[in-house]
Amino acid sequence: MTALSEFSVRTDGQTDWINITGEVKKAVSASGVREGICVVFTPHTTAAVTVNENADPDVPRDVNLALNAISPDRREFHHSEGNSAAHTKSSLVGSSLTLIITDGRLLLGTWQGIWFNEYDGPRTRKVQVRVMGE
Ligand code: ZN
Repeated sequence: MTALSEFSVRTDGQTDWINITGEVKKAVSASGVREGICVVFTPHTTAAVTVNENADPDVPRDVNLALNAISPDRREFHHSEGNSAAHTKSSLVGSSLTLIITDGRLLLGTWQGIWFNEYDGPRTRKVQVRVMGE
């Protein structure tokens, strides 16, 4: 059994974390898959998806601070669009996730949520979810 679905995310501000756990859970439950895997993918080069804490809003804030320290805007960048810092963060964090489905549900830790990360917003973005299993 397999199912592909897509949803949109509207981001606010240049950098933004949007909790997409609910949308991914909906895609898993609509697929009817009980045992399998779920791939969450975003087809953008200045955004990313990640699993991280969903309880304390200071965690996304602190991760953004760390990413800004790792990849600040640099005068030496060549890319004419001027958003190479965002492209770098996208590559560091990644454009896809593989998650486990068991008993019809996503296997996530108590404090884990699935996040869409914007690095060059605000924009409307897409997230695609492929669910596979039986
Ligand atoms: Zn660019």
